[in-house]
Amino acid sequence: MTTHPRIALIGAGPGGLLCARVLQQHGIPVTVYDADASADARDLGGTLDLHADTGQIALEIAGLSDAFHALARPEGQAKTAMDHHATVLHHFAPDDGDTAAPEIDRGQLRRMIADHVDPATLRWGHKLTHAETLPDGTHRLHFANGTHTDADLVIGADGTWSRVRPLVSPATAAYTGVCFLDVRYDDADVRHPAIAQLVGDGHLFVRDGQGNAVIAQRNSNGVVRAYLAMRAPADWPERAGIADLSAPGAEDAVRAHLLGVFAHWDASLLPFLTDVDGGYRLRPIHVLPDTHTWPHTPGVTLLGDAAHVMSPFGGHGVNLALLDGAELAEALAGEPTVDAAIRRYEQSLRERAGALAPGANEALQHFFGDTAPGLHRAPDPAEEHRGYQERAAAYRARRSA
Ligand SMILES: Cc1cc2nc3c(=O)[nH]c(=O)nc-3n(C[C@H](O)[C@H](O)[C@H](O)COP(=O)(O)OP(=O)(O)OC[C@H]3O[C@@H](n4cnc5c(N)ncnc54)[C@H](O)[C@@H]3O)c2cc1C
Repeated sequence: MTTHPRIALIGAGPGGLLCARVLQQHGIPVTVYDADASADARDLGGTLDLHADTGQIALEIAGLSDAFHALARPEGQAKTAMDHHATVLHHFAPDDGDTAAPEIDRGQLRRMIADHVDPATLRWGHKLTHAETLPDGTHRLHFANGTHTDADLVIGADGTWSRVRPLVSPATAAYTGVCFLDVRYDDADVRHPAIAQLVGDGHLFVRDGQGNAVIAQRNSNGVVRAYLAMRAPADWPERAGIADLSAPGAEDAVRAHLLGVFAHWDASLLPFLTDVDGGYRLRPIHVLPDTHTWPHTPGVTLLGDAAHVMSPFGGHGVNLALLDGAELAEALAGEPTVDAAIRRYEQSLRERAGALAPGANEALQHFFGDTAPGLHRAPDPAEEHRGYQERAAAYRARRSA
């Protein structure tokens, strides 16, 4: 490219920030717009495992491997599966030196990448309301703060409810029938020792084979977080008489509802439902169709959840978002035209996400299905870790070829 296109990137999540970082490494100007007031403006939720064959490759391309490993928790790869009688069904402890999928807090990951993006190019407090195509084929982006900007290339990295996606696709994410409540236990070893002990260094998966589960995870700084998860209609809070989960008194109503839903669970597990710090945050799980794709559209593309939001089972979401971001930036740096770069990038994205989405979505339905806990077949973590490392080696070999 002889002249630089005006690139507007919507969404400073992990995928968008990573893309901006790699573009800037190549000297390509980009401006990033995000609805949040800053990188730390809200509690983003639980921990993420970054896979050797995707997320970690992206961080390597961005020159951020050391920064990641300084924060990452390899011991967080431990996993315990339990039934609702608190009987341990499986336990996995990672070997020393296993770095196939270490954990990092979401907030730490976002802050770490944002710190490696030119601050003058980050426009916080810019919520995109809509985008329009101008007669010359470029795009005008309108923000809730009353400003607008024009761009030659719009990158939609704005997550599940993308406002960029309508430029290329009519698809919207649909509710899976599974709702998570995101909760936290602060200073867990001291204040919630029983919970801390059950969770250990890594993850605890408890399911009852009747559509209910607790997925708890060790985070950094003494925090344990959990998703209290239920197969439930989207409007279950209204049906339970809880109009707004953040309203005064709502916490007691949610707690009472949960104690009803999980009434058949062992008493030792009930503190996960009741002893939370900071309330209950609704995270209903929405996904795009497995086969979501869009016709090539000059001057617009999508990455991460905006392109292919899928169920969190398999832990692909953030890993794909990071690698999408790195590959899009590299394509823009390497191809002679923006159009050629988008075509190359979109082909790779489709193949990768298209191969993983059906399995991730099926795994969610299976986990929340009626299979008895002892009969549920979770992937073998040791085998998964070998797979990540083998695919990472193959990816590096392809890149250096
Ligand atoms: C409950 C739950 C658990 C999950 N667990 C895992 C897991 O264990 N492992 C895993 O890999 N993935 C997991 N995921 C998925 C993972 O969070 C996403 O795949 C990942 O965050 C996608 O990154 P992204 O950069 O594409 O989008 P996001 O992280 O969603 O970032 C989008 C950004 O766009 C901004 N934005 C949104 N709308 C606008 C707008 N209109 N204007 C301007 N800015 C906007 C947002 O503020 C945000 O910063 C989970 C998801 C959920 C819901």
